Amino acid sequence: MIDIHCHILPGIDDGAKHMADSISMAQSAVAQGINTIIATPHHMNGAYNNYKTDIIAGVQQLNDTLQAENIPLTILPGQETRIYGDMVTDLENGDLLPLNETSGYLFVELPSGQVPRYTEQLLFDLQMKDIKPIIVHPERNRELIENPNILYDLVSNGTLTQVTAASVNGNFGKKIKKFSLQLIEANLTHFIASDAHNITSRGFVMQEAYSVIKHKYGASAVYWFMENAQYMMDGDLVIGEPPERIRTKKKFGIF
Ligand code: FE
Repeated sequence: MIDIHCHILPGIDDGAKHMADSISMAQSAVAQGINTIIATPHHMNGAYNNYKTDIIAGVQQLNDTLQAENIPLTILPGQETRIYGDMVTDLENGDLLPLNETSGYLFVELPSGQVPRYTEQLLFDLQMKDIKPIIVHPERNRELIENPNILYDLVSNGTLTQVTAASVNGNFGKKIKKFSLQLIEANLTHFIASDAHNITSRGFVMQEAYSVIKHKYGASAVYWFMENAQYMMDGDLVIGEPPERIRTKKKFGIF
């Protein structure tokens, strides 16, 4: 199993604090059946900046350690970049790191409360540079929960999304679980990933999420998500089913 979103690099964000944490996380991932992780440290989120070259060096160091410890897990470089206006310029400057470095897919994190007005234009501009943007955990964004049509428009225009395993399991509450399932049903998401930060409060729980998905939508849905992670990692095309609009409940008396 591939996990495309994880804070396993030591000491650089709010994930693993030190190498011992990274090793425990690696062991926990292997126990879940994960053999490949894309390490995606926070970048430009107001608290943490992690530039491309530093991440690549950190991944190398962690892989060396895992090999020395005989842990059968491969770490690939990636980055979770909070959306900002100069992303295209900084991508060209070499500050930003697409997933697995050369896949052409780039994580974009929205602020949790809203969707900035320039989002649509920026996601378009990235695609004009042959970058395929993936919005991380849209199910946890307040504005998208209230107005899922915003996400429908973005996905219709070629943006992909990643739902977090813990959201599917209900660990972030009923509302976020419900919205996660609606996103799956409406073809508004393409990847499931752990976004693991530790082995306690923010663990991997990928097995659990895939079993919820299998139970509700069948094994083919699970394979579809798993294959998408592989295609993405290899830089191949990920094509979703045509997105649908999520029906929001009509308020009584308003037509
Ligand atoms: Fe994350």
